[in-house]
Amino acid sequence: MKIPFNKPYMSGKELSYIAEAHFNGMLAGDGPFTKRCHNWLEERTGAEKALLTHSCTAALEMAALLLDLKPGDEVIMPSYTFASTANAFVLRGAVPVFVDIRPDTLNIDENLIETAITSKTKAIVPVHYAGVACEMDVIMDIARRHGLMVIEDAAQGIMSSNKGRPLGSIGHLGCLSFHETKNIISGEGGALLINDASLAHRAEIIREKGTNRSQFFRGQVDKYTWCDVGSSYLPGELIAAFLWAQMEAADEITHRRLAIWNTYHQAFAALEHDGQVRRPIVPHGCSHNAHMYYVQLPDADTRNRVVRRLKDEGIGAIFHYIPLHGSPAGLKFGRSHGRLPITESVAARVLRLPLWIGITNAQISKVVDTLAKVLAK
Ligand SMILES: *Cc1c(COP(=O)(O)O)cnc(C)c1O
Repeated sequence: MKIPFNKPYMSGKELSYIAEAHFNGMLAGDGPFTKRCHNWLEERTGAEKALLTHSCTAALEMAALLLDLKPGDEVIMPSYTFASTANAFVLRGAVPVFVDIRPDTLNIDENLIETAITSKTKAIVPVHYAGVACEMDVIMDIARRHGLMVIEDAAQGIMSSNKGRPLGSIGHLGCLSFHETKNIISGEGGALLINDASLAHRAEIIREKGTNRSQFFRGQVDKYTWCDVGSSYLPGELIAAFLWAQMEAADEITHRRLAIWNTYHQAFAALEHDGQVRRPIVPHGCSHNAHMYYVQLPDADTRNRVVRRLKDEGIGAIFHYIPLHGSPAGLKFGRSHGRLPITESVAARVLRLPLWIGITNAQISKVVDTLAKVLAK
């Protein structure tokens, strides 16, 4: 009995909505399903405007274009994140400035941000790791005082909130992912949340190849033309149809994932008490979406031994990230703000466990028991 790391969840309506889009004969982007998804995102997050994209990567690229970054501009972000967080800004010639993370949430350490600011700093990119919010009040206050933009990498954060504010809706811009490995999925997919109303008009243009085609379709202009830089960032209707089936099930998905997360959390209490693992910490005021269950192991050797043994038992446990500041591209395009000891320590010790709707309690027990057995000797 293999226990894979991930199994994409389907609500059951995906194919019938795709069939409906097919029947309607509207396959390009921004059709009826895309509009439903936009409305849902705007209602759920309170964003001024939501725009579906091909991926969170594409949403981050749109954000970088909206900031009008010049070569040499600096963008502050954690090193403990996915390559796209940095890549989107490097594509504009900007320099990612990597700062260390907090040992509790593994999110950017907000207390290190201010000392990383220089005359070239333009933006801060907090990444909400595992769907648990960064210290957004502190980060927004720093941004306000220094005139910086905040782009939330909320790839893992849909349905999570910080003091009641949905993740992705707190910064000037927020980026969501609907990749197959996230909570709400469309295979590949994402969205840009525009919370600063002054960016909304230009975001539409950037997403539509630099043209005012969106305004044209709304009948606001009588012809459309090339207005600005841009690219094609909008997904077709088949993807939006699939995504709509997922959005309709978003509450149920979150509820079921949380139940699994809590089962793991209770099952690991004893091992944490014995000092064998450290469980995730969700600070007061953060309501999370159970995107990920991970534990921190004592050291890198233990982690490598555990991954191998779990694999032998058919359990898909994995790790991430290779910190960006030490990666080949990170060294070439970015710079570190001082040393990043917590990033390096955590990246060597994190273990991510199987979490998907349909995993049974017996399977969860097998994961926990196998891990306990490996750690016991
Ligand atoms: C998954 C992820 C991304 C990339 O999302 P895509 O939709 O695959 O482009 C970016 N940042 C973080 C933190 C992620 O987890």
